[in-house]
Amino acid sequence: MAFELPALDYAHDALEPHIDTRTMEIHHGKHHAGYTSKLNSAVAGTDLDGKSIEDILGGLDMNNGAVRNNGGGYYNHDLFWKVMSPNGGGEPSGELAEAINSAFGSFDAFKDAFANAAATRFGSGWAWLCVHKGGELDVCGTPNQDNPLMPGVGCGGHPILGIDVWEHAYYLNYQNRRPDYISAFWNVINWDEVSARFAAGK
Ligand code: MN
Repeated sequence: MAFELPALDYAHDALEPHIDTRTMEIHHGKHHAGYTSKLNSAVAGTDLDGKSIEDILGGLDMNNGAVRNNGGGYYNHDLFWKVMSPNGGGEPSGELAEAINSAFGSFDAFKDAFANAAATRFGSGWAWLCVHKGGELDVCGTPNQDNPLMPGVGCGGHPILGIDVWEHAYYLNYQNRRPDYISAFWNVINWDEVSARFAAGK
């Protein structure tokens, strides 16, 4: 069965002023849609056809550029829309908060590590908060549409939070001010969703 562009759980303007309406329209409706259709073309008629995206990325031949770029783009953006919410922001609680304190020392220290991974990614890519089996957390960055589910990529954990630092994610509103976009991202993080992904992935 072909992959489908997942619908957003909120309106295009719902993340204003942190992420602007036009960026959301183009990012979801054009960029994510493009990765989705190109992924379908890349797997059609191959032995990857019918597999889940997690299985495809986990067993990926890194020399398969079409599946690496478009499968990564499909998965990464699906995660990205879901870990944001117009009711987001604040801080995590419960087991995730404890795991963050254990791994980084404090929530603020985690924010510094995550923001640093996002700010220092040269060119296009992503920064991630990942969970390893056993519940340990890691921050890493990856280039282009790579992610840590792929063999040998990043910290090798399961991503539970990610920020897209491709210019298409922020340029209309923030131009070259990537740090301002990263700062604004904290206001829209859906910690309930991140906590659910932590619980499922640990
Ligand atoms: Mn993107």
